[in-house]
Amino acid sequence: MTIARDLLKAVEFTAEKHRDQKRKNVEASPYINHPIQVAEMISTVGGIDDLAVLMAAILHDTVEDTETTFDEIDNAFGPEVRDLVAEVTDDTTLDKAERKRLQIEHTAHMSDRAKLIKLADKTCNVRDVAQSPPKDWDMARRVGYLEWASRVVDGCRGTNAAMERYFDETLARARKALKIKK
Ligand code: ZN
Repeated sequence: MTIARDLLKAVEFTAEKHRDQKRKNVEASPYINHPIQVAEMISTVGGIDDLAVLMAAILHDTVEDTETTFDEIDNAFGPEVRDLVAEVTDDTTLDKAERKRLQIEHTAHMSDRAKLIKLADKTCNVRDVAQSPPKDWDMARRVGYLEWASRVVDGCRGTNAAMERYFDETLARARKALKIKK
């Protein structure tokens, strides 16, 4: 088994699933940029070379944001990757406010491997909300996102010191950019 082959297979699968989606920023960046950045951060900042974690990081938004099913992920990548993706996937039958509340509650009970994905996901999103936010978000919504993300990350503490520090630095920069006093 080669690591490169499996990782590239996950990238190819994910690119195909998100092919019609753009990020909500003004640049309308291709959606695939986001999961690639999340996996890259886990590898580069976190120093993690756990293949299942990196594959699940690439795949992390496919079930939540596309038509992909957990069975498909299981068939293509096996139960270990499937379970990691399931851990970081919201229950989309619930409304947005309830999903946000549950993320704070559930994150603390996740496996350490899932927490790595959650940490990198929130770090990327915090950076994006400061630098290239969704174009219809007003300031209150951006500020609210940062505070919520920081509460979710509180549930990930004690998992990977370098990634937690990187989140804290990214959050501090974002607060400064949005002129939030903390
Ligand atoms: Zn994400």
